Amino acid sequence: MKMIMQNDEFIQLCEKCFADNGLEAFCEPKTLDLLYKMTENMLSVNAVTNLTAITEPREIVLKHLADSLSAARYIPEGASVLDVGCGGGFPTLPLAIARPDLTVTGLDSTAKKTRYVAESAALLGLDNLKTLTGRAEELAHEPQYRESFDVCIARAVASLPILTELCLPFVKKGGKMVAMKAKLDESEQTRAPQMLGATAFERHEFELIGEQQSETRLILIAEKQKPTAAAYPRAYAQIKKKPL
Ligand code: SAH
Repeated sequence: MKMIMQNDEFIQLCEKCFADNGLEAFCEPKTLDLLYKMTENMLSVNAVTNLTAITEPREIVLKHLADSLSAARYIPEGASVLDVGCGGGFPTLPLAIARPDLTVTGLDSTAKKTRYVAESAALLGLDNLKTLTGRAEELAHEPQYRESFDVCIARAVASLPILTELCLPFVKKGGKMVAMKAKLDESEQTRAPQMLGATAFERHEFELIGEQQSETRLILIAEKQKPTAAAYPRAYAQIKKKPL
């Protein structure tokens, strides 16, 4: 399946949407060209493998690209970033494209998804993107990954208490967890960050501004102050049964 929109129309959509959302720093021609190629490839793969329900270019630009890039301002220059539950590559792919200073690792338990992300990186020539296949709660106990990333980010993976237990063990002391959410339920109130060696979440609420409508988004940030106790993360059944 070919993209319904031409390169120049897509570029114009990105320029307008990124400007509306304070993301004009990511409007360089090379960045927009790679975002176009990424989207074109995603749509052709999506025709045979389910990666995303969002297939309309305008919506992809807003809900996948601008939304992913809205977290970039919280990621320090040169950071190593782990994206837990990267799925079809969000925010992994837009971050690796728009922030060549970062090293981004996309982690997912589904091999089909990490394979797609790795193939996209090869196609786009992104040498700052790696992938990791497995369950976060298991990989976080492996010495080579534990407390070894400057930033652990996740979008739309699990409720906040669960997500925190999956992410914080990967974060170095002095690093941070960045959780991207569309909304936060009352039940997601949690002391999980403090229990796992980090500060309480700092809450950043903003509007993702689209041409037709705007949507509220939340970015929650916890800073890691000391190591996470070796018992965490627990087995998934435990995490789910008794969230922190
Ligand atoms: N971040 C992407 C995908 C969200 S869907 C986006 O915003 O579009 C959630 C993804 O998390 C799925 O691909 C699922 O396979 C993965 N996932 C859920 N729990 C996981 C775990 N414990 N370890 C690794 N991956 C997990």
